[in-house]
Amino acid sequence: VAEAVGRHTEIVNDARAFGLAELHFGAARGAVCAAGLVLGTGVGGALIVDGRLVTGRTGGAGEIGHQILQANGPVCRCGNHGCLEALARSDVFAARAGVAGVPELVSAFERGDPRAQAAAEVTAHWIAIGLANVITLINPEVVFLGGGVMLCGEILLGPIRRFLPGLTPFVDPESYRVVPGQLGPLAGALGAVAWAWECARDTARTKS
Ligand SMILES: [Zn+2]
Repeated sequence: VAEAVGRHTEIVNDARAFGLAELHFGAARGAVCAAGLVLGTGVGGALIVDGRLVTGRTGGAGEIGHQILQANGPVCRCGNHGCLEALARSDVFAARAGVAGVPELVSAFERGDPRAQAAAEVTAHWIAIGLANVITLINPEVVFLGGGVMLCGEILLGPIRRFLPGLTPFVDPESYRVVPGQLGPLAGALGAVAWAWECARDTARTKS
């Protein structure tokens, strides 16, 4: 890409771009400490500490979806067992309710289908456990969730908010909010813009 455009080029992971977009323009605007989760065909994440995206030494920080939550759990695409992604990605969630996908799951839930309600409860519990680990580690002020699974909205957010206080004994439950992302499918592109701006700013600072 650098050769084609003749410019310095940076790469940012899509979930980290989502996090940056929500930090600069959306649900986490102005936050000093925050965590983002993208729930879709995979589960991605982004951590923000001291107002900045945490990248780690080699860009691998923030893989909230690949925390191991169940040592003998289902195999994840990453090769480990029992990652949050393997327990909460969209097709696993839908399969729990016996439906084809997330839109069908929302319809089933709204019809009062007990399988869909049970699937939402189980999936929300796994997500809450994953988020509780993050909340315990970084004590964020806001946790924001995006991705295709968030078509479910309060169907998942409601039970996640209900489970969290019991899972985060070291953090005051009043100190953080759990909210949907605000930018929808635009988040990735906006986050890439934010990342380019941050990289350019840091380069300028280094030079001055
Ligand atoms: Zn994994």
